[in-house]
Amino acid sequence: MTQRIAIVGIGVAGSVVAAHLARRHDCEVTLIERVTATSQADSGTGLNIGPNGLAALESLDPALAAQVRAISLPWCEWGIGLADGTKLAHFDLMAMAGCAGVRVRWAELYGLLRGLAGGHVRFGAEVIDARRGDDGRIALDVEVGGQRQWTDPFDLVIAGDGRYSILRQKLVGPAPVEHMGVALARLLWPDDSNGVIDDYVQWYCGHHRLFGYRVPGNALYLTASFPFEPGSPVPEAYKQPEVFRKVITPAGPIAPGAAYLIDRLSANVADLHWARNQQAPIAYRDEGGRLLILGDGAHPMVPTLGQGATQALEDGVAAAAAVTALLDRGSSDFPALTAAIDQGRRERVKFVMDLSWRASEPMLLGAEPVSAHRFLQSDEFRSGLMDVFNGHVRASAFRALA
Ligand SMILES: Cc1cc2nc3c(=O)[nH]c(=O)nc-3n(C[C@H](O)[C@H](O)[C@H](O)COP(=O)(O)OP(=O)(O)OC[C@H]3O[C@@H](n4cnc5c(N)ncnc54)[C@H](O)[C@@H]3O)c2cc1C
Repeated sequence: MTQRIAIVGIGVAGSVVAAHLARRHDCEVTLIERVTATSQADSGTGLNIGPNGLAALESLDPALAAQVRAISLPWCEWGIGLADGTKLAHFDLMAMAGCAGVRVRWAELYGLLRGLAGGHVRFGAEVIDARRGDDGRIALDVEVGGQRQWTDPFDLVIAGDGRYSILRQKLVGPAPVEHMGVALARLLWPDDSNGVIDDYVQWYCGHHRLFGYRVPGNALYLTASFPFEPGSPVPEAYKQPEVFRKVITPAGPIAPGAAYLIDRLSANVADLHWARNQQAPIAYRDEGGRLLILGDGAHPMVPTLGQGATQALEDGVAAAAAVTALLDRGSSDFPALTAAIDQGRRERVKFVMDLSWRASEPMLLGAEPVSAHRFLQSDEFRSGLMDVFNGHVRASAFRALA
């Protein structure tokens, strides 16, 4: 019998799996994506992907990894210091991981990834509800152009629907969110920095983390962090240009990179993208085992180590390898497969989430930057970062699980 598989959310994780399932003839694959094919609304800034995301992708699909590198700049180093130029820590990614990560624009990354299964994706289709039958199979309520319709049940539903996953909510339950009390303001800006911003460097001004890096297309990705009461909305005062500038400008000398960031962000407050740092417990599957959740839906995490999309890539690689291997051997034991993926991924993702949260301490309300950085200067943190960069998913290990 032909297996029916749905992938909901063609973002980072969903795209990688979709690319490997869409053209198979031994199963019927439905790809559902809320945005339209040309929408850029959710992709206005940049991101850095850790070397581990690229290494994982290389183990599954070297050509795709090369394409990602081709639309990116290499992320080779991570420098941390104070706004006055005092250096606190430095990490050489090539030495630590043996390969670079990447710096890329969201619009280009989504463009490349969504194009992989492009012709097969139902763009502009949104999953509104889901229900599990007695046999564990899952039907979806999909809205297209204002019309809602329930699908026939699927043997496997892969949820790549991101941070506020409707599938997790409906089939596993609401995820209890832990707010950090830190918001990030982000801007993509034409590079007029005369070289003071290039690879990934961050400057601390009190508890505000300023950072920037160059991305392709002669642009810079610039951000500043703002602490506030956990769980409350981002204070409106921060969105006033004069307050914004005053709050992040330190007294005393300012390094050129930090001065540039303060100026460009403060002058463009109306165009900033705001996001709050938050995380929720890990959930890879529903109790019937026919829902496989990937990426932010499975493990919303704080973006301090650049591991959100990176771990979504690792998930995508794990799922693509395991599901294709299962289908190759003619099996349809999806509940066993999702249990194996959960088991194979949980410990690593928990480690990455915990390290990302701990590395955010200098951004917390009232943090004193020098003492708050002791952990980031420690051997324990450097060794944790080595584990993050080198302990990535290998496609062969997940093929063997099927
Ligand atoms: C401020 C900030 C900065 C970040 N910086 C970085 C960084 O530098 N590096 C990094 O690795 N990560 C970063 N991240 C994290 C990164 O954005 C996410 O971890 C990553 O995008 C998750 O990938 P995903 O595949 O799970 O979901 P997404 O890439 O978010 O994709 C989800 C997809 O599902 C679709 N969708 C959602 N709901 C539905 C529905 N009901 N029906 C149909 N389709 C639906 C969406 O349209 C979208 O295409 C950052 C996050 C934030 C908030």
